[in-house]
Amino acid sequence: MPIYEYEHLENPCALGKESEVRQSIDDDPLNKCPRYGRPVKNLPSLVGISVPKTNSELRDLMFGKLAKRNDGAYENVTARYAESRHIEHGKPETMPNLKKIISH
Ligand SMILES: [Zn+2]
Repeated sequence: MPIYEYEHLENPCALGKESEVRQSIDDDPLNKCPRYGRPVKNLPSLVGISVPKTNSELRDLMFGKLAKRNDGAYENVTARYAESRHIEHGKPETMPNLKKIISH
């Protein structure tokens, strides 16, 4: 479920002036703070449903992405640290080093 942001219109409660709520996309927009019932308005931003798109964003989020090249070999486009960018068949040392990624 996406996370919506809302803003208190008057005095914010303990949740702070701006807060987040997890709502179904079919739910009506929030007009009351879910905690104390004070008036709020929904902010248009949607947090949590954006998808990283670039290889460097994926790398920062610790995803790995392999791209198949025209010659059939795989390229590790999110290679980090000492990883090999080109994965060669029969050479396990060219595979992404998961142990190293997780320990960083
Ligand atoms: Zn509140």
